[in-house]
Amino acid sequence: MASNGKTPSNGAPFQPRMLINGQLVEASDGGKFPVHNPATREISAQVPEASIDDTNAAVAAAKAAFPAWSALDPTRRGAPMKKLAALIRQHNAELARLEAISMGMPVSKFHYGATAAFNFDHFAEAWPSIQGQASVNTPGHVTMTLRQPYGVVALIIPWNAPVHFFASKAAPALITGNTVVVKSSEKAPLAIARIAELVVEAGFPPGVFNILSGHGLPSGQTLARHMDVRALSFTGSSRTGKLIQEDAARTNLKKVILELGGKSPAIVFADADLAKAARLTAASVQANSGQVCMANTRVYVHSSVADEFLRLFKESFAAVRDGDPLAPETTHGPQADEVQYRNVMAYIEQGSQSGKLVLGGTGKLDGMGGYFVEPTVFVDTPEDARIMKEEVFGPVVNINTFEEEAEVVAKANDTEFGLYSAVFTRDISRALRVAKAIESGYVAINCSSPLTGRDLPFGGYKGSGQGREGVLYTMNNFLETKSVIIQLDS
Ligand code: NAD
Repeated sequence: MASNGKTPSNGAPFQPRMLINGQLVEASDGGKFPVHNPATREISAQVPEASIDDTNAAVAAAKAAFPAWSALDPTRRGAPMKKLAALIRQHNAELARLEAISMGMPVSKFHYGATAAFNFDHFAEAWPSIQGQASVNTPGHVTMTLRQPYGVVALIIPWNAPVHFFASKAAPALITGNTVVVKSSEKAPLAIARIAELVVEAGFPPGVFNILSGHGLPSGQTLARHMDVRALSFTGSSRTGKLIQEDAARTNLKKVILELGGKSPAIVFADADLAKAARLTAASVQANSGQVCMANTRVYVHSSVADEFLRLFKESFAAVRDGDPLAPETTHGPQADEVQYRNVMAYIEQGSQSGKLVLGGTGKLDGMGGYFVEPTVFVDTPEDARIMKEEVFGPVVNINTFEEEAEVVAKANDTEFGLYSAVFTRDISRALRVAKAIESGYVAINCSSPLTGRDLPFGGYKGSGQGREGVLYTMNNFLETKSVIIQLDS
């Protein structure tokens, strides 16, 4: 029985639906799947499972809506986006609650209504920067480039910050004149399904903005293989990113943008502000119960300060309040679901064999009834251990020591990932040398993730992805470039 999938506004059970061609609908074959509250393991809601037919219908609606939407005055494309921003702000508490009962994010940590609204507001007015170029560098000719939308764009998002990824992809895709089909994650579809209702209220023309719920199979795969989807922006695991890339290559070579996983290093030199380094690196791994792509899960500390750093780190990392994500005092929620919990516990088991456990290590399923994992620290883990190479996606960190700068840079780079790195030192030359040498899309100096610069690009080196996102960058992902050459009569 659905136990707490209620909207606070009217107390009625929330019934998630999908948005296809302007209509809020169930799956055409009646398919549904349950979403559980990971703190209690009770069912929060039954959610429509998009079938292949539903997915094809959403793409067909988006294709039919594209000519009129792309031809519209961009200020008129922006108008429903601004209205949606206001509605999302208005319903922030409700979205926080729905996220808490589907993937366990504490309501005290939910700030994604604000960031999503910012994205819709910002991109609604960003159309003047959709610009080509012109030149007279070809004698006897004028040349120009036009920036134009792709057509139907698919957006596939993960569960760890769904409202943020939803908005940061959909808003730039829409203002540039594309029509979209979003697929939410099966682990966290509730807040996005509520936003689907707000999209209807905001007044987007039918077919412009379609929202599906369901699993990778069949819905996500159908989008990745669809001949009418011209671009696909994906945030999720590297494993799924590779499958999507393969599907795109085997079908219509749609443009693919990939924001994938990480195994991010933080390097703490002996001259660093140790208290600050310990506090910020601990916060990085603890945020969202370790379920953050850029979490600094490998920390390298200079051996001369390692004991003191470890003492400070453990103090900070252990100071969490775990419990009901709906309670305002909770700072540490459960892992998103049973699969995530079992994965994290399996990594902790392996980690205990390869390294030395010095904090945590316990799952609290029996004691608390939900998928809670203690903040966990390993030291002295061999560099080639699985837990040093693979993404755990839980509140688990490996802290190792180093002696020399060159040695630690080599260790930091010895990974197939390259999303985010942090370096703590008071020596500016060393900080910049390391920033230059490190193979990752982001480097933080004397700070760490999840901090990001408001207008910087975000994206991975190596297996962490391809392409960049950000307020100044994402529109570019959704615009083709056409070259036009005009011969002048002499
Ligand atoms: P996931 O890859 O399991 O799922 C992501 C989405 O892909 C879901 O909507 C899922 O239904 C869909 N999907 C699954 N199989 C598919 C297929 N074959 N074809 C098409 N779609 C398919 O990832 P997740 O567990 O939801 O998210 C966690 C991962 O996301 C972590 O690896 C994390 O590092 C990464 N992540 C990256 C960033 C970033 O910006 N780089 C941000 C957040 C999360």
